[in-house]
Amino acid sequence: MFLLKETSRNAYNNDRRDAVFAKNYWQHLKLRLPHPDTIDDVMRILSTDEIEVLKFELVSSLIKQKLLRKFRFLGKFYFVAVDATGTHTFDHKHCEHCLTKTSKKGITTWFHYVFEAKLVTSAGHAISLASEFIENIPGRDFEKQDCDQKAFVRLAVKIKKHFPRLPVCILADGLYPNNTVFVICRQYGWQFIITLKDGCLKTFHTEVELLKATVQQREVWRRDKTYNIKCDYNFLNDIEYGGHYYSWLSCKETKTRHTDGVVEIQTFVYITNVKQVLNNVVETADGGRLRWNIENEGFNIQKNRDYELEHKFSQVSYQALQNYYQLLQIAHMINQFVERSADVAILLGQHSGQTIKALWKDLIVYLKSIPYTQEQLMTFLSS
Ligand SMILES: [Zn+2]
Repeated sequence: MFLLKETSRNAYNNDRRDAVFAKNYWQHLKLRLPHPDTIDDVMRILSTDEIEVLKFELVSSLIKQKLLRKFRFLGKFYFVAVDATGTHTFDHKHCEHCLTKTSKKGITTWFHYVFEAKLVTSAGHAISLASEFIENIPGRDFEKQDCDQKAFVRLAVKIKKHFPRLPVCILADGLYPNNTVFVICRQYGWQFIITLKDGCLKTFHTEVELLKATVQQREVWRRDKTYNIKCDYNFLNDIEYGGHYYSWLSCKETKTRHTDGVVEIQTFVYITNVKQVLNNVVETADGGRLRWNIENEGFNIQKNRDYELEHKFSQVSYQALQNYYQLLQIAHMINQFVERSADVAILLGQHSGQTIKALWKDLIVYLKSIPYTQEQLMTFLSS
């Protein structure tokens, strides 16, 4: 269902009932297509750990196969972006674990939230490493609902348990520069590059301001199809916060548009435990910006483009919702490699307007038309 980017159990069932589709599926995978109600029965009783353990094994195998090796930070650390996102919203209390909020107008909504850690790369991968649902504990006051910081701790424990020797560099946005995160990273031997917003970590900021006259600087020019880009990097080391020392870096990006000379300026500021030198400041700041992948290549694609993450694949069971969520993560992981494969690159290159989405639709059309071989399929998709 998720590999073929079916948007609901119903869409899957319509294809499943198509005799040619079922025959092609059998011919290719040697599997019969189960009824969606049967799948749902399993999803409702399967422990939520089971599918995630499968996900851990798949990610471990990607790492062992060295597929993500060339994207490592400083030749060693895998970038792991962390962030939370809403998964499902209801106008009624859906289950005991629903979080809830009431708007100023007095309208209450119930919802589910997940805290994700995704392996991100400069090639645009966003691969789910571990997921932790943020949930209301039954009987606890709504005021004391589970929160991102507590979920970060649980997620970190989970990553360390399943990937004990993975060299990790955590990327996070301006909500996360705090002692909870710093202490965990220190305990686990992880690096971090975290967005620093104005007003956050006041004593750290004060010290940065005092030392600004002593910053070290580096300037880099880049050029892409649309802009000439000047990047001014500044950094400081050994800034004390809470009894430990961290580095501060900023990148001021000045983009000048080729066509009309319009100038855009943006500044990105980070706190990191990676000691900054002229040779790593560019890689560190570029790494910090890969955090966006968890939103753009992760949440946005899963919600708005291809996977209907927010669709209620199960109406009543929270356990099933979590299991479908994990299956979706695995399908998205597999598809990210398929979409970057040589075969798909050739198909995309054949028509200027060809999109991944259209290709996947064609694939279903073809599966429903005639029994195929691999060669016939490639010919069909490229025609
Ligand atoms: Zn619920």
